[in-house]
Order: sequence, then C-alpha cells, then structure tokens
Amino acid sequence: MARDHGESIGRTVGCRRCGRKRGMIRRHGLRLCRQCFRDVAPQIGFKKFS
Ligand SMILES: [Zn+2]
Repeated sequence: MARDHGESIGRTVGCRRCGRKRGMIRRHGLRLCRQCFRDVAPQIGFKKFS
C-alpha cells in the first residue's frame, strides 16, 4: 500500500548486470555501471570508452 516507496525502484535503478548504482552509464539506454560497460562494450559493438 504505502510501502512501495523505493524498493520497486531499486530494480530499475542500478546496473542491470551487477546491480551496482555507482558509476552508472545511462547513455543509449544501456543502464550499466562503468565496470560492466567496459566489459560488454566490445561485445555490443561499442568503441573504446575512455
Ligand atoms: Zn555493473
């Protein structure tokens, strides 16, 4: 009832790979943290990011 205050948001916020909220990159709707972005960037066809 009045409980859904932030828990439901916890799902959409944060890296969808590791769940971290630090160093998020929201470019191009990736929603990944910097670490995961570096990991998947080559796989998803992103150029080097730095
Ligand atoms: Zn991550």
